[in-house]
Amino acid sequence: MSLVLKQVFNKDRTFEPGTPRIELQRTRTRSREAKLYFKQAVQLPQGKGLHDWVAVHVVHFFNRIKQIYGNISDSCTEQSCPVMSGGPKYEYHWQDDGKYKKPTALPAPKYMSLLMDWIEVQMNNEDIFPTNGTPFPKTFMQVAKKILSRLFRVFVHVYIHHFDRVSQMGAEAHVNTCYKHFYYFVTEFNLMNHKQLKPLVFNKDRTFRPKRKFEPGTQRFELHKKAQASLNAGLDLKQAVQLPHGEGLHDWVAVHVVDFFNRINLIYGTISDSCTEQSCPVMSGGPKYEYRWQDDGKYKRPTALPAPKYMSLLMDWIEVQINNEDIFPTNVGTPFPKTFMQVAKKILSRLFRVFVHVYIHHFDRVSHMGAEAHVNTCYKHFYYFVTEFNLTDHKELEPLKEMTSRMCH
Ligand SMILES: [Zn+2]
Ligand SMILES: [Zn+2]
Repeated sequence: MSLVLKQVFNKDRTFEPGTPRIELQRTRTRSREAKLYFKQAVQLPQGKGLHDWVAVHVVHFFNRIKQIYGNISDSCTEQSCPVMSGGPKYEYHWQDDGKYKKPTALPAPKYMSLLMDWIEVQMNNEDIFPTNGTPFPKTFMQVAKKILSRLFRVFVHVYIHHFDRVSQMGAEAHVNTCYKHFYYFVTEFNLMNHKQLKPLVFNKDRTFRPKRKFEPGTQRFELHKKAQASLNAGLDLKQAVQLPHGEGLHDWVAVHVVDFFNRINLIYGTISDSCTEQSCPVMSGGPKYEYRWQDDGKYKRPTALPAPKYMSLLMDWIEVQINNEDIFPTNVGTPFPKTFMQVAKKILSRLFRVFVHVYIHHFDRVSHMGAEAHVNTCYKHFYYFVTEFNLTDHKELEPLKEMTSRMCH
C-alpha cells in the first residue's frame, strides 16, 4: 500500500460509490482478505504431520530468503555493515561448533554466508531432515526453530539496513509478501517467541513504502504534498490532476513523473515474480503490440527483449533521468531544460507500457494479490494526467483503449 493510500485509509469518512475512494476502501477489504489468506495458508492441512509441514516450510523459506539476500547483497559489504545487526539496538553474534565456539561479532556478509551454509548443512543432513520416510529425530523442532530464528535475522538486517536497495529494485512487495508468510507461519506454530520477533514489531508501517525522491523542505516537496493532498481530499482524479493556480507546469509534471514512476515500479514489483523470461519471452501487450527496447547504450537499435529484461532497463533508464540534475533540477532557481517536456513524455510513454503489460499479461496475479483497485486507481490517475496535458500519443494509448473507455469517463 502506498503512503498516499495509507493516508487516505487513516481518515474516517464515508465514500461515495463510483468515486476512487470507494475503490480504495475495497482495496483495504481485499488486503484484509490477503492477510486471511496467509493465516489460513499456513495452517496444518488435515492428515499432514506437523514435522513434515515444518520441514517443507523451512526449506521453502530458506530458498526465498537466500534469494532475497542475494538480490541486495551487493549493497551489504564489510564497509557498509561491519557488524551484523538490526539497527543500533540489535547486534547479532555468530556461534557454531566450528571456528566460532564463542558468540562472535562479524561483518554482516560474513555472518550471512556462515548462516546460509549452516542452514544448508542442516537441511541436507538426513538425520535431521530425513527424505525416505524415516521418522524425524527428537531434536527436529529445536533445529527448525533455530533455523527459522536465524532466517528471521536476515529479514531484520534487510529491512533495517537495506530496504532502500529493495525499493530500488522494486521488490518491496515481494519481500513483504515473503515476510508476512514467514511471520504467520512461525507464529501459528509458536516457532519463535515474542522477544525474537521484536526487532520488526513496528515493521508493519514500513511495508509497501514507496520510494521518495523529494527532500522535505524543498519547493518540489511542497508541490508533491499538494498533489497528494488533492488526492487525499477525495477530489475527482480528473480534477486532482489539474495544474494548481500559480504553479509552474514543468514543476507539476516533474512531481507527477516521479510519483508515477514510484507507484508503477511498485506495481510491477508486486507481480514481477510471475513475469519471467519463460512466461514473457518478448515484452508485449498481447499479440498485437510488441515493444522493442532502444537506448544510447547497448541497444542502439530497437530490440525485442524478454519482459523482465525490458522492465529492468526501463526502470533503470527512468531512474537515471529523474536523478539527472540537468533534466530534473531540484534547486528552486535552476530552470528546467528546453528538452524537459520531451523527456517527460518519453518517460510517461514508457511507463504506460508497464501498465499495458501488467493489465494484459499479469492481471491474474494482480487479482490474486488483491491489488486490482490499487492498480486501477493508479492507472486512472495516470491516464487523466497524461491526457490533461497531452503527454502521450494516442497511438501509445491504443492497447488499453477499450478498458480505458470503460474505466475513465
Ligand atoms: Zn548489510
Ligand atoms: Zn510479463
